[in-house]
Amino acid sequence: TVVEEARRIRVLDPRLANQIAAGEVVERPASVVKELVENAIDAGSTRIEVELEAGGARLIRVRDDGSGIAEDDLPLALSRHATSKIASLEDLEGVASLGFRGEALASISSVSRLELVANVDDDPRSGWRVVAEGRQMEPRVSPAPHPRGTSVTVRDLFFNTPARRKFLRTEKTEYGHVEETFRRLALSRFDIAWVLRHNQKTVQQLPAGDDPARRERRIAALLGKGFLDNALHLDLAVGGLRLWGWVGLPTHSRAQADQQYFFVNGRVVRDRLVAHAIRQAYRDVLFHGRHPVFVLYLEVDPMVVDVNVHPTKHEVRFRDGRLVHDFLFSSLHRALAEARPAEREAQAG
Ligand code: ADP
Ligand code: MG
Repeated sequence: TVVEEARRIRVLDPRLANQIAAGEVVERPASVVKELVENAIDAGSTRIEVELEAGGARLIRVRDDGSGIAEDDLPLALSRHATSKIASLEDLEGVASLGFRGEALASISSVSRLELVANVDDDPRSGWRVVAEGRQMEPRVSPAPHPRGTSVTVRDLFFNTPARRKFLRTEKTEYGHVEETFRRLALSRFDIAWVLRHNQKTVQQLPAGDDPARRERRIAALLGKGFLDNALHLDLAVGGLRLWGWVGLPTHSRAQADQQYFFVNGRVVRDRLVAHAIRQAYRDVLFHGRHPVFVLYLEVDPMVVDVNVHPTKHEVRFRDGRLVHDFLFSSLHRALAEARPAEREAQAG
């Protein structure tokens, strides 16, 4: 009978299983951009281009010049639980890459029209393309020329999951989320060149370079020239801890905490302990309800403080949280206190 039929246990089709998994990682175009770019970073790319149409709802393309993917590995790239980043539970402990669950491409591919083209060779005439088809998500590989590296194109996100598609906001809002994701990623790696294009227009073009001048040019391009004109540069090291970056002067504060970037060993992090230390440092110099602007990099020697960053979330756990808190607070507090007389002089003069 129908009732008995409905109660039978069965294994989900791969596409359906992946669509369910997609519920966790793929919320909107910005989450797709984050996953694809993190893969490009993990592949050792020196140049990453992000291209969008209609805020990413119609098209997202991430092109890199990284390792590429070998023909034999291509069918696996789009399947679930397939990763080149860990092989054992021990690997999980020391994972240095940004992804490792082997879910992103399978998930995204199940809720969009995804095509991946890659080439491991320096010969730009070689390369392969893979797409996953049907309910079984059968990978289909065919030759396609591509320079060394990988391009992933994601069209019509959520076209086959109308309930999720409905949750997409306007083009402007979705594009805003992508820009924010791009900003964080570009701030996390000065050694990579970045390009952002939206609706055929180049929005950002950031050359690679770890020298101070290039860094400041990138900060200005991403956060506006006004920020640097009203910020202190700092670079302090104590023991195994180093803090460097830019903190906005109290006069450059904002009504919202929307321009605050904090990286721990190169990864963007949101952490209560860090937030508390910064808030305390600004407490005497900022009006209630105002928020500082900052781009800060904390580098932590793993021999001194053990950091455990969750690979997909932005959480961090320090073994010695007190030490980190006090270092952040005292560094910032001092920098801000020293800046005050100069500021007053500037206003007086
Ligand atoms: P994960 O990143 O967790 O391993 P993904 O689904 O994001 O899982 O990617 C699956 C695999 O495909 C990766 O482990 C990697 O081997 C390969 N891959 C994906 N994107 C790229 C890329 N841009 N360059 C090189 N290899 C890639
Ligand atoms: Mg990944």
